[in-house]
Amino acid sequence: MGDYQIAVLEGDGIGPEIVGETIKVLHAVQRKVRDLRMEFRYLPVGLKSYKTDGSTLPNETIEGLAKCDAGILGPVTTHIYDTSDPNMVNPSGTLRKYFDLYANIRPAKNYPGVSSRYEHVDLVIVRENTEGMYADRNLHFGTGEFMPDPDTVLSFRVVTRKGSERIAKVGFELARSRRKSLTLVHKMNVLRKGCGLFYDSCQKIGAAYEDVAVRDYHVDAFALHLVQRPEVFDVVVTTNMFGDILSDQAAGLVGGLGLAPGLNLGDHFMIAQATHGSAPDIAGKNMANPIAEILSAAMMLEWLGIRNHDQSAFIAASMIQAGVAKTLQQNKKTPDLGGTLTTEEFGDALVSVIESS
Ligand code: NAD
Repeated sequence: MGDYQIAVLEGDGIGPEIVGETIKVLHAVQRKVRDLRMEFRYLPVGLKSYKTDGSTLPNETIEGLAKCDAGILGPVTTHIYDTSDPNMVNPSGTLRKYFDLYANIRPAKNYPGVSSRYEHVDLVIVRENTEGMYADRNLHFGTGEFMPDPDTVLSFRVVTRKGSERIAKVGFELARSRRKSLTLVHKMNVLRKGCGLFYDSCQKIGAAYEDVAVRDYHVDAFALHLVQRPEVFDVVVTTNMFGDILSDQAAGLVGGLGLAPGLNLGDHFMIAQATHGSAPDIAGKNMANPIAEILSAAMMLEWLGIRNHDQSAFIAASMIQAGVAKTLQQNKKTPDLGGTLTTEEFGDALVSVIESS
């Protein structure tokens, strides 16, 4: 029996629109799946919360999340956050660090009814999520960017053995449950120490997974292979910034960011969050594609199922995944995929597919 408290953080830009549809879909699966109960607890975050509570990530939100089983987070418009204001932290980075959500799992695959340049793509980027080049999460205190003089910036990249080993373990476990193929992506030819430590740590973990085939590429060469023959890749394990970039690229191979889900996963907590940003260019227009956020919530249910040995959460996750595929097959799509449906209309279409399943 699954009985879950789910925190809901709407985010900025298109966040409230796509998170709204996600919650609508979760209510629909809850009505269908016996033994699954979810209670949604809305918590303030982002620019709206800065106006009302004086912070983009109030303590109340962190405390509220800690009392929940998982969270759903919309994207946030971080490029306009004032980094010199301590009350304007990047909620995504801060929460990943605070809850030690060290694995960012970002699948990309073709869907029937969605035209793209490639076929048979079905891969997962497993991105280290708490270290690397990202200045807002790679130090215990403070940020990893420094200006010794007004014309010079030093940006620190952090790679640890612990961080590399644990992300590798997530990748190898995932590969074992899929096509048993894992690709390590690094830049060891130049970043000898950092990427070297990452590579050695991953290989060490891989020694316990003899059934998984391992290969590795320098990130620049991998970007080439990813556009030339994406169908050969299964699980891709890489460091933070490489994974961030490559997961957008992978989304582009299968139809765009509107189809790219993500899960921030730690040993004790998880937050579902689409790969894409807050899309300010289309915010408030009821035209964003909610699929990425909806599929992120399905990933959350899948992992709640794994962690709690809960069949009801698994069933709900696969009901959402099948529902998305069927709705797309019926040519019901938002404008980014060449369709004409609004965000809400897509959510309604998916709900009726789920209800009739
Ligand atoms: P973006 O992902 O928001 O948008 C890139 C392009 O994809 C835009 O044309 C946008 O309209 C389109 N797009 C994105 N999601 C879509 C969807 N669901 N449906 C239809 N079209 C969609 O990237 P950006 O423009 O570089 O960043 C915008 C803001 O988002 C910035 O403030 C950035 O810092 C932030 N951001 C946040 C996150 C996050 O919260 N996890 C991730 C990336 C970027």
